[in-house]
Amino acid sequence: MKEFDMADERRFAGIEAGGTKFVCALATADGRTLARERIGTADPALTLSQTLEFFGRAGREHGAPTAAGIASFGPLDLDPASPAYGRIVSTPKPGWSDVNILAAVRDGLGVPTRIDTDVNAAAMAEGRHGAAKGCHTHAYVTVGTGIGVGLVAGGRSLIARGHAEMGHIPVPRAPGDDFTGVCSYHGDCLEGMASGPAMAARWGCPAQDLVPDHPAWAMQAHYVAALCCTLIYTVRPDRIVIGGGVFEQPSLHAHVRRMLEPMLAGYGLSPHERDLHTLIVAPGLVETPPGLLGALELARQAADG
Ligand code: ADP
Ligand code: ZN
Repeated sequence: MKEFDMADERRFAGIEAGGTKFVCALATADGRTLARERIGTADPALTLSQTLEFFGRAGREHGAPTAAGIASFGPLDLDPASPAYGRIVSTPKPGWSDVNILAAVRDGLGVPTRIDTDVNAAAMAEGRHGAAKGCHTHAYVTVGTGIGVGLVAGGRSLIARGHAEMGHIPVPRAPGDDFTGVCSYHGDCLEGMASGPAMAARWGCPAQDLVPDHPAWAMQAHYVAALCCTLIYTVRPDRIVIGGGVFEQPSLHAHVRRMLEPMLAGYGLSPHERDLHTLIVAPGLVETPPGLLGALELARQAADG
């Protein structure tokens, strides 16, 4: 007898909640976007009501969502046991401290809803659709205004409570580097030494203005390779995807591989970890924002329980 192929008619709501805009999309289960809207981040009550109105309209036209996912700016309370679960915690963004985006969306749409950081969501999207497709465990690193690391295992965030702050790990100094660092908490942590603003402060111009053979890139690669070394020896990722504005510099991934090799010194590596070309890669998702795709992935997880 021929097997009956049930089409998955579910609709998912995805929200990429950023400090300047909320990007909302209603999508099919196979990831096709049916409606999309960009809402400027204003005061929370207005932004959240516009978000819910969008999903109301889109749902009437294309079918109501069965679940929702939110990839949010932070810091967020991500401890499911906390009474403040789903809240934004003390952000400098006016009005948004203590706003519970998760509760507003879940109660407003009346569907199961999940929230995670924008970086973790982008990491999940790279795993499902992008450069880490097929990997069991992977890391997604973004080097831009800050440095964030998302860790995914089996399609879900590896850290179940709270979020990792790997951008702030201490790092060994590059030989001859006496820069004090720009992190307002730690000075010369990874973010303090290697974020976009750290590069601008160190070299006196934005990173994108530095010529390709500038010594800045080798130094930059040293710090990011130190992060990769830590990730490899702790998390054992099948892949490390590195993106963000600073990694738009085309030669930087190759620089990181070159710096990483002597740091690892061949110690304790499985065969796949020895191939740094498949271990350290650029993002695969460039057109649809990975945070939005990650939000839709969170919606799928919310629906599946
Ligand atoms: P954000 O982290 O704010 O979301 P980005 O990931 O775009 O934004 O990162 C912004 C940082 O990336 C800035 O510090 C900028 O100087 C740097 N940047 C942007 N484009 C490039 C480039 N082509 N090469 C190197 N650095 C870049
Ligand atoms: Zn720091």
